[in-house]
Amino acid sequence: MFDTLLIANRGEIALRIQKAAKGLGLRTVCVYSEADAAAPYLETADQAVCIGPSASKDSYLNADAIILAALQTGAGAIHPGYGFLSENTAFAQAVVDAGLVFVGPDAACIRAMGDKVAAKKAMIAAGVPCVPGPDSALPYDFIEIRRIATEIGYPVILKAAGGGGGRGMRVVRTEEELAKAVAVTREEAERFFSNPDIYIEKFLENPRHVEIQMICDSHGNALWLGDRDCSMQRRHQKVIEEAPAPGIDRVLIAEVGERCARACRQIGYVGAGTFEFLYEDGQFYFIEMNTRVQVEHPVTEMVTGLDIVAMQLRAARGEAFDVVQSEISTAGHAIECRINAEDPYSFAPSPGKLTEVVLPEGEGVRVDTHIRAGYVIPTHYDSMIAKLIVHGRDRGEALARMRAALDGFHIGGVVTNIPLQAALMDEPGFVEGGMNIHHLEHWLAERSSQ
Ligand code: ADP
Repeated sequence: MFDTLLIANRGEIALRIQKAAKGLGLRTVCVYSEADAAAPYLETADQAVCIGPSASKDSYLNADAIILAALQTGAGAIHPGYGFLSENTAFAQAVVDAGLVFVGPDAACIRAMGDKVAAKKAMIAAGVPCVPGPDSALPYDFIEIRRIATEIGYPVILKAAGGGGGRGMRVVRTEEELAKAVAVTREEAERFFSNPDIYIEKFLENPRHVEIQMICDSHGNALWLGDRDCSMQRRHQKVIEEAPAPGIDRVLIAEVGERCARACRQIGYVGAGTFEFLYEDGQFYFIEMNTRVQVEHPVTEMVTGLDIVAMQLRAARGEAFDVVQSEISTAGHAIECRINAEDPYSFAPSPGKLTEVVLPEGEGVRVDTHIRAGYVIPTHYDSMIAKLIVHGRDRGEALARMRAALDGFHIGGVVTNIPLQAALMDEPGFVEGGMNIHHLEHWLAERSSQ
């Protein structure tokens, strides 16, 4: 049991975690890099510790500095947030070795889910539907590889077992391309991820991205908290997320959710996690599990009324959840727009000083952000400065509320993507719902060619 939490992250999620921790009566310690020395959330933390220079590798990725800060401030636990060290096996283990609690699953779970081949094996064992293809790494014998590819049927996709961040993947459309693609992907797997293992699966042409939120305690309670649709992506980066996913049979979602819960129980998973799926022609196909809280968790919180970050902290404290699966239901519809300091159409980052910040208000409106007027957005980190989340009785009401909220959101001093988000709220495809993962890029390409 711990009473002080160190938050090993920055920006909106550092504040989000701080609020949840305070709600549970915990003391909070925030770490920061030199570039974040003036971040507003440091003022409301019980203690703030500088862990190094601006570059992430010297601060937010510096495991030793973070653990030392925890030990020096009497923190008993570390919440990694998302990104940075949140899915780093060595860090999760080092935290525990230092006698501290890591807010998340244990290192073995992170490792198993970080290896995509091991993850796929575990999912198949739990009956979670996966993309067609073997549950093992490819052999080196090309004749055998060619046989497997033919059996799956082209197009196929080659992926590095240790891959991530959209790297180490290659689509192969014909048998003629296969040999070269195998060689290049293997070489990349080795170079980027120090693991030459690659695997193969069916390439789905027009899927949607639908995911299932999990939260698990250490007493065997694995709960699935419904689904999210995150198909509105640009370069594999999510731009808009919503819950629930429009137009998908709720019985099917429940079936997949139950299987995810079973998988979590089988691997002894503790904490928050997300099963990511591609969804095409009425079928779910597992692609990966994220072993941390996600940027888009608020849409699930809005429809379930649960506080996922507080539940992460309760699970880390060894508490058993006081809610069971049959009590979890979703109401209405929630949409999240990521607000980035970047040009809405060229996507060029726009760091700098904020001269004005007016946050939208209204029924069903939530803004997760650390910004205020006078705040200077550093150049060193990603461009997301806020998340605007709305809830409505149905998708139509959520859309209307999002339009109004975007209209009432004013940020001066830098350029933001608010105009893009506003345009998307009136874009016929998004308004209809259920678009695939290519929809946003196609719409952007069409727009720029006009
Ligand atoms: P990463 O860990 O690098 O993000 P993922 O396995 O999550 O890799 O895949 C990233 C993206 O690549 C997916 O969101 C999807 O757009 C695409 N993708 C991955 N596997 C497939 C597949 N079998 N068919 C079609 N697209 C895929």
